[in-house]
Amino acid sequence: MRFVRYRHGDRKFAGVLEGEHVQRLDTTGLGGTADDLLAVIRVWEDSGPSVVRTIEPTLQLEDVRLLAPIADPGRNIFCVGKNYREHADEFAGSGFDVTSRGESLPSHPVVFTKPASSIIGPGDRIDPHPGLTSALDYEAEIAVIIGHGGRGISTDAAWRHVWGYTLLNDVTARDLQQQHRQWFIGKSLDTFCPMGPWAVSADEVDGTDLTIESHVNGELRQRANTRDLIFDIPTLISTLSAGITLQAGDIVATGTPAGVGIGYDPSRFLVPGDVVSVSATGLGSLVNEVGA
Ligand code: MG
Repeated sequence: MRFVRYRHGDRKFAGVLEGEHVQRLDTTGLGGTADDLLAVIRVWEDSGPSVVRTIEPTLQLEDVRLLAPIADPGRNIFCVGKNYREHADEFAGSGFDVTSRGESLPSHPVVFTKPASSIIGPGDRIDPHPGLTSALDYEAEIAVIIGHGGRGISTDAAWRHVWGYTLLNDVTARDLQQQHRQWFIGKSLDTFCPMGPWAVSADEVDGTDLTIESHVNGELRQRANTRDLIFDIPTLISTLSAGITLQAGDIVATGTPAGVGIGYDPSRFLVPGDVVSVSATGLGSLVNEVGA
């Protein structure tokens, strides 16, 4: 099933997307607000898809404004750096990677986080933060949404903890990433986490075979498949959960393929008016324009 959060009039709701129709979800009794998709995911883990009850009205997709499927996961978004070989190489060769200590490929997953406050939805503008950065870059990523939480999850058990997927753009200020010698600030500025356009439950897509692409102003920049990940989704879940209890609604961004702005010579950074599209098999297209 495809799930959305949306604004209709001046109110927000959660819904199910079928074709071009949005059916409102009945979230009463789940303890959350009308747009609390996270509450649905939590209950889904105990009761399965039977938690999904829809109520009127059914709307046309074009008549609602889609929002990020999860507005606030309750803590930071887990992110993985350098998880596609060709991207690890382009980053190492760009001069912006000050953390690698010379190794070409990471021996363990490189994990950092972005605050939930950086999340924006499809169609929202990316703030270019003029005066703060002059090296604005895009990173198309598949994001895993955790269902069943837990600690010490084995790679064999990991798929059972995946509720579903969405798309994410790990927007990065390369100059801040370089200057601060640690990635948090450069990846956490307001609006630096476009997410959506919807969340898909895991039964609908194969996480081992998802092709992800990015386009800037219609030009293909990135294209890869999750089978090319250095550390696959079960390994990421096992690594994170070894000592951190994962919770329903946690989001794990799995890393970006080669073809980001710093992968070009000269670099091709984003400027106001650029339109970035992140798309993947079955997950739709997440489109955001860089604001002024
Ligand atoms: Mg990234």
